[in-house]
Amino acid sequence: MIAGNRTINYLRISVTDRCNFRCRYCVPSTPFTVIEHEKIARYEEILRIVRLACSLGITKVRITGGEPFVRKGIFPFLKELCAVEQLKDISITTNGSLLTREKIEALISMGIKRLNFSLDTLDPAKFEQITGRNRLQQVWDAVLTSHELGISPIKLNTVILRGINDDEIEAITALTLKYPFHIRFIEYMPMGDSAVEKQQQVLSEEIKERIESRFGTLNPVKKDTNDGPAKKFRIEGARGIVGFITPISSHFCAECNRLRLTSRGTLRPCLLNNYEKDIINPLRNGASDDELKDIILSALTRKPSFHGLSGSLVKGAPISHMTSIGG
Ligand code: SAM
Ligand code: SF4
Repeated sequence: MIAGNRTINYLRISVTDRCNFRCRYCVPSTPFTVIEHEKIARYEEILRIVRLACSLGITKVRITGGEPFVRKGIFPFLKELCAVEQLKDISITTNGSLLTREKIEALISMGIKRLNFSLDTLDPAKFEQITGRNRLQQVWDAVLTSHELGISPIKLNTVILRGINDDEIEAITALTLKYPFHIRFIEYMPMGDSAVEKQQQVLSEEIKERIESRFGTLNPVKKDTNDGPAKKFRIEGARGIVGFITPISSHFCAECNRLRLTSRGTLRPCLLNNYEKDIINPLRNGASDDELKDIILSALTRKPSFHGLSGSLVKGAPISHMTSIGG
């Protein structure tokens, strides 16, 4: 599938808006409602959309949420997804808290080789302050068990917030000396009304300077085909990679090759633009495969060439929060 001069081969699927965590940068600070059960796309509906998207050129899928592993029936669904022939790459973004050894083994036996974990701190008290849950040990166990069982690469997504975990930039980076992990510092994006304030956002340049003043020059690493928008570097002699995802300081829209399917069954061409195209209702109302393919293609015609966020934070309409879209 083509959008402008970009080939779109990557579908990011949010299977739920529910989450067992309450990360302060992700969920709204004010009371919010979850999507009614019957409005959430059913697994068989997601699989139909995936098969049609694959017939249009999608070869990569990432499962996200909310927290994908809170949704009932996720393992049988993942098994069916892994059986979709055209899919060359299936990965999952998770907070890791529910991933026991047995579950990681089940993922590996289906053919899932890559996992992204969110990990913002190595300190249990701060972990609770950021996520609202005292679960650092479970998450870290899941990361190490995945490593031990051969999941590779393991990517750790970290959002640095000033006054909360900015004193851990060096300690988190140092994990790459010991483990072959990819640490990815993601710039905080203002999504809806989170509890994070503008002054708490730390942009990549500042993080990079801090890392270089402690560990020496960060050497650029060539991107490979499975890489998303992260700019990748390595500390001299390190096993792992340090990456920066810079939606705010330097947008990467020109290279963005993804389409999102939200848990509400809408297609969203850009995370940071509120335009969404309904596909679930036409599907439930009996649309044919060709009609659904047309809906997918027409959503892509609305893929913007750049988004409306800048270093000075929100421009234009507020953006829905991440759990409802799928980060
Ligand atoms: N629950 C899973 C997890 O935490 O990995 C998957 C969904 S979560 C929405 C996906 C990613 O979005 C996480 O790595 C999280 O750090 C990131 N994220 C959430 N809200 C964000 C925000 N406002 N700015 C930047 N990244 C954010
Ligand atoms: Fe849940 Fe992930 Fe959002 Fe944290 S970042 S609240 S774990 S969806």
